[in-house]
Amino acid sequence: MESAHRRRGAQGSIETPESEQEALKQRVEQLEGENTLLKERIKHLESQLGIDQLTGTSNRGVFENELERSLKIIRGETEEHRSTAEHHKEISLIFVDLDHFKQINDTYGHPAGDEVLRKVSALLMDSVRETDIVARVGGEEFVVLMRGADESVAARDAEDFRMKISQMEFENYPDLQVTASFGVSSSESSQLAKDLYEKADKALYEAKRSGRNRVIVAGKI
Ligand code: GH3
Ligand code: MG
Ligand code: MG
Repeated sequence: MESAHRRRGAQGSIETPESEQEALKQRVEQLEGENTLLKERIKHLESQLGIDQLTGTSNRGVFENELERSLKIIRGETEEHRSTAEHHKEISLIFVDLDHFKQINDTYGHPAGDEVLRKVSALLMDSVRETDIVARVGGEEFVVLMRGADESVAARDAEDFRMKISQMEFENYPDLQVTASFGVSSSESSQLAKDLYEKADKALYEAKRSGRNRVIVAGKI
């Protein structure tokens, strides 16, 4: 049955009195306002939790805290290792920097670049263990903190990431090909965060310098 307030218009559409239309409009505006507020609240909570908005990876702050915590365990400066010893024999860092990413933005547009960032992030997050951390530490730069992985294990995993990224396909951009360069360092060579950063960074630089789309291990430079 049709509502007493409604009648069929010339085209058969349902017409509502102006007062009802106004009430509906106000309700929609109210819901839109609430939706915006909720989205802002989620953004705020995510950043408090240290989650990168675009990719869902951890941010730099979380990564730095977690790295320091792991190194303290390795250096024996905390009791925590008693319960988690099996995960903390060695740790490794994998620095990841997408190759010629500016060119991807320039050729396919910024939204395509964003999709690449999300897809690479999802691949890295799906590939590591729960105890590992994937963080976005720059526009198109990521770092993976691998707990319980020595340099050779991390190098093997980095090679696996490299291959999978180079084989990625994008439904909306069939010609788009992505590669990344990798630098690996591990606590076998130093148990100080500063040294591990420097070594992984140097290895990554060498991966770029020598042609990109490759993994370079700090201990082998
Ligand atoms: P290389 O192989 O030497 O690393 O070259 P590159 O082009 O990847 O490096 P460069 O540092 O020259 O460029 C990085 C680009 O990443 C530039 C910047 O516009 C882009 N970028 C940074 N953040 C974002 C983002 O959130 N989304 C998108 N789409 N692009 C981003
Ligand atoms: Mg870069
Ligand atoms: Mg780059």
